[in-house]
Amino acid sequence: MTGFVRVEGIIKDYPSGTQTLRVLKGVSLTLAEKEIVAIVGPSGAGKSTLLHIMGFLDRPTAGEVFFRDRNVTSLADSELAALRNRACGFVFQMHHLLPELTALENVLVPLMIRSGIFEWVTRGASSKKRGRDLLERLGMGPRLRHRPNQLSGGERQRVAIARALVGDPEIVLCDEPTGNLDAATSREVQQLIKSLAAETGKTFVIVTHDMSVAALAGRVVRIEDGAIVSP
Ligand code: ADP
Ligand code: MG
Repeated sequence: MTGFVRVEGIIKDYPSGTQTLRVLKGVSLTLAEKEIVAIVGPSGAGKSTLLHIMGFLDRPTAGEVFFRDRNVTSLADSELAALRNRACGFVFQMHHLLPELTALENVLVPLMIRSGIFEWVTRGASSKKRGRDLLERLGMGPRLRHRPNQLSGGERQRVAIARALVGDPEIVLCDEPTGNLDAATSREVQQLIKSLAAETGKTFVIVTHDMSVAALAGRVVRIEDGAIVSP
């Protein structure tokens, strides 16, 4: 079966004292291009672990991972990191912004990592414009120079979303993106994710507890105790 990102028979074990804890028990999932998929399920079910494997942040204990039909399971760490940097954008529940950087600087971090010094010096201006444009699109124009501790929870999540999108990734992976937000702010961020998904045509995978977030998705995948269960 072809797909955009495909995982097959994924097993993930963690050592737990003298035993191993099997947190994914043979998960297979295919993402199509441009689709929005929600992953739901109880806490501890293995949702974040699966998201990290589909975003090349972590490796399975067994099973295979494909990106555009290329088997990337055994890529070297450096190649996997390069693929992740080019193809994936991440939004986490905790924004993981760098506290000493401004909103705009935080958004630019993935481009700095990608470009190297020479390219950054020669092409930095267009990157900065892209970062600024994205933050403005997200309603953050007046807060480009704020540091994370000067922003509200919803504003920080907007910065994190801009950072996920700035490198023009093919897939955006969100782990409980509204998990720390109050109901009204959560709705705003949901609306933004929905309109950005429509505008950009990127594939979105959203792990969530919140059924109103899951309602944004074209498909809901439920995971319980390390396995996909039918909805
Ligand atoms: P979810 O996101 O669905 O809440 P996770 O994927 O974060 O669940 O975790 C699934 C299970 O794996 C949990 O029981 C958790 O304690 C365990 N786990 C996650 N990461 C690690 C780790 N690095 N080492 C050991 N156990 C882990
Ligand atoms: Mg989780």
